[in-house]
Amino acid sequence: MGDSAHTFLPTSIQGAGQAIEDATTVAICLQLAGKDQIPTALRTSQKMRYIFPCAQTEGYYRYDRVGLTKRMGVETRDIWHRTDWAHFKEDNSYLQLPEPDWVFGHDPQKYAYEEFATAAHAVETGCPYQPRNVPMGNTKTRGNDFDAAKKSFHSLNTSSLVSPAPSVGA
Ligand SMILES: Cc1cc2nc3c(=O)[nH]c(=O)nc-3n(C[C@H](O)[C@H](O)[C@H](O)COP(=O)(O)OP(=O)(O)OC[C@H]3O[C@@H](n4cnc5c(N)ncnc54)[C@H](O)[C@@H]3O)c2cc1C
Repeated sequence: MGDSAHTFLPTSIQGAGQAIEDATTVAICLQLAGKDQIPTALRTSQKMRYIFPCAQTEGYYRYDRVGLTKRMGVETRDIWHRTDWAHFKEDNSYLQLPEPDWVFGHDPQKYAYEEFATAAHAVETGCPYQPRNVPMGNTKTRGNDFDAAKKSFHSLNTSSLVSPAPSVGA
């Protein structure tokens, strides 16, 4: 967990934030699974935080919470390193550090308690797991919040959720 599992660009401002979320999730999964189920607890924690593209997740999110917060840092870096000054003149919020609600408004403790049974079931049965701790839809991660994301989710079909991430500023 933390930096030993995932390093972040400075433009993510999320290294410590995600390390704390990791630790909270692992602790709650260990508590709820019990001493006899440590492998299930760790796999369930991983399921809530990291989803790797594979046949099992086909049709679901390619990007997990940790991966998306990393992507937010890449998007910000690209915007800062390849500044579009015409855009900046029109909208000076363009270069601000993002503070989307899906990152800063998230409660990982509440999420882990609420989500444990569903995620553990996915671990035990191999059925797909669809996280609720990511913005819905394959749209820009810098500005998304959960409310906007919920609206965009309903206007998207699932095939667009697994398409490659757009490269911002390209
Ligand atoms: C300049 C700067 C600004 C940052 N700003 C932000 C920010 O605004 N927001 C944010 O979220 N993140 C920020 N970060 C990132 C954040 O500090 C890290 O992501 C976070 O500290 C990682 O926590 P960690 O517990 O995984 O690792 P660490 O904090 O590195 O903790 C690892 C610990 O393990 C110890 N250790 C290493 N080897 C051993 C060993 N063999 N035995 C025992 N102990 C050992 C180390 O001494 C250390 O205390 C910033 C980082 C830097 C450098």
